[in-house]
Parts: sequence; C-alpha cells; structure tokens
Amino acid sequence: MKKLMIAAAATGLAASAFAGLYGDVPNATHAWAVHDRNRPNPVKVVAEPGLPPSDAIILFDGTEKTFANWCSMKMEPTKWKLVDGTLESVKGAGYIRTKAEYGPNFQLHVEWATPVKVEGVGQGRGNSGVFLMNDFELQVLDSYETDPSKDPNPNPNYADGQASAIYGQNPPIVNASRGPGKWQTYDIVFHAPVWKDGKEIYPGTVTVFHNGVLTQDNWEYEGPTFHMKRTSKKQPAAKAPIAFQDHGNPVHFRNVWLREIPCRHANTTHGGPDVKEADVKALRDKIATELFKKIDTSKATADSVNQILEVISYSMEEPFCGAAKKICGDYLAQLEKMDAAALDKNKNAILSVKKSYDVLWRNNLLKECKLGKFIAKTVDQKGWLKKKK
Ligand code: MG
Repeated sequence: MKKLMIAAAATGLAASAFAGLYGDVPNATHAWAVHDRNRPNPVKVVAEPGLPPSDAIILFDGTEKTFANWCSMKMEPTKWKLVDGTLESVKGAGYIRTKAEYGPNFQLHVEWATPVKVEGVGQGRGNSGVFLMNDFELQVLDSYETDPSKDPNPNPNYADGQASAIYGQNPPIVNASRGPGKWQTYDIVFHAPVWKDGKEIYPGTVTVFHNGVLTQDNWEYEGPTFHMKRTSKKQPAAKAPIAFQDHGNPVHFRNVWLREIPCRHANTTHGGPDVKEADVKALRDKIATELFKKIDTSKATADSVNQILEVISYSMEEPFCGAAKKICGDYLAQLEKMDAAALDKNKNAILSVKKSYDVLWRNNLLKECKLGKFIAKTVDQKGWLKKKK
C-alpha cells in the first residue's frame, strides 16, 4: 500500500495548480463562461484628468502641427485662423474639415466657445456646428440666455436648432449651455447607420454630453440633418471627415480629439441582440481547440482533468469528448486504488476537480460521469466540505 501511495504522489496527484471552472459555462448565445479567465482583457488606456486618452487621435491641440490637420472642404488651405491656441472661424471662409477621414464609429471630444461679445439674434448668435461623417450636424450656438427680461432677443429661437440639438431633428434633453465666451465641451459617441444590400439595417445613433450633462441619449438619426427640410435615409460613406461650420460668427474651438471605436453590432459571439449562434459555436470550438493543445493528454492528473473538463465546457465535439473520457477514466482508476490516507493526501487536488464538476452539474453537463460521482461520494464520506461546528 505504501508503494501505491508513493506512486500516486509521483503521478502528480498533488494540489491542483489549475484554477478550475468557476462561473456558469458558455452556452448557445455566450461564447465565454461567466468570469471566464480565458476571455481577453481590454487594451489598457491611460486616462489622466484633463488629458486626451492615450489612444486618442489628436485632431487639434492648439499647435501649428495639428492646425495642419485641417483644410477647406475643397481640400485647400483653410482661411480659419490659429489664434492663441484655438481654431477661430472666419466669416465667409467656409467650413473647415479634417484632411483625414474617420468613422463609421467614434468618440469625439470638442471644446468650443461662442464670442464674448453678444451680437446677433437667434441662429445668428455664435452659430457653428460639429459635422459628423459630413452629414450630421450637432449644433453649436449661444443658447445660454433664455430669459426675455435679461435679453431682448433671448435664445434659443427654435428648440431643434439650439446648442446640443441634432439640427432640425432633436432638441437636447436639457439646456446645459454656458454663457458667451465661456469654454464648453461636447463629448460625443457616434455610430453611423449600418446599411446592407441597399437598405438601412441599423440607424445611426449619437449620444452627447454637453458640459458633462447628457443631452442626446442614443438618438437614432432619421437621416442627414438639414435646414428647413425633412430628412430621409441615406447610405453613409465608410469614412468621412470631421467638419466645423462657418455660419458667419467667430466661434472658437480647442482640444479636439477622436477615438475610433468598434461597431456596436460587431459582437456576434457573446450575448446582446446581435448574437449569432453559428458565430458563438465557431468561437467556442476555437477556444476549445486552443486550450486542448495545452493539455498533456498522456497524464491523468487533477490538472489535466480540470483542463479537459474546461475544454468540454466550450465544445462537446471530438476529439475533446474522447480525450475527456480517457483522462477522467485514468484518473478515476488511480483514485480507486488509493487507500484512505492517500485520498486524504490528495484532498486539495480532488476538491479542485469537484469544483469543476459542480460547475458542470450546475449547468446540466456530464451528469453521468463516473469520476464526478466517485469524487462527490468521497468528499461526502470524508466530510471535507462540512462546516466544523
Ligand atoms: Mg450651425
């Protein structure tokens, strides 16, 4: 018996180094388990207060270098001015655009200020605009004063044309405007419409925080924005410039940066309304294949049992099931030969395997497995998981 115990220790029946299954396993619409340790972690981005995120594309930061990112709509040198680290619109100069094109999905940060000196009324007061994908205007306007007792011609003049409006379509939820000459921020999340075979399958959407306040909540565009005209759907370009409007008022811009982001409908492998079961299965099979390569299938240890159980939690296809049968069968044969003392010595390893089985059973998998039943019975008889009174 002593010999057998030594042999058991030599085959690796020590405490398992493998974390084991933990959260609920993948299913038809979720490629990853809950709390899946194999799921890739997001890319790290440095986000310091007041600075663009480390992965942002700097479109304008007040320097000559980034002023050179901009041009007229005809791709000629712009007549807008670089003034004290800001972009200043010049009456009659026309819109300004980025030379490069972006999209169809991005986060955009823009800071802007209408003139300190209040001139003009209605749409003629500090009017400009942030054009997204060339077609969608987020209005820039001095919309601060709305009290006629304080201003004989208070703004806004029409709700779907005030600051933070999707021009001609949707007024902001609230008016978060600051006064003339004060710097204001737009933080925008934009998704262009998705078209397939000549038809829109997802509308374009925009979310806007104006001075940190939510003013557009995932607004679904009816189409490009227009003055006076009711819009209709239009297939967007794959990419397009960011542009600012010249509406005849000297409006200033600074700190403009953009981050391209994935399409919201790109994730077809894990939950959500766009999940596709065929994509989920393909990814689960791929993960199972990758994990399977890491297993030494010639050895039946707690680690290899836990590893193969994890593999089949992703995919029950062959060769995974056959390998699971062999590894689990060999491990069971080892356990069955152990005496009470040897089982005690391997308590932690055995409990790690029980943890994996508990997850599988909780998810209605492998109910009839002999190894799992043997381990459950052993743990119960030994009282390893009973709380001490
Ligand atoms: Mg405008």
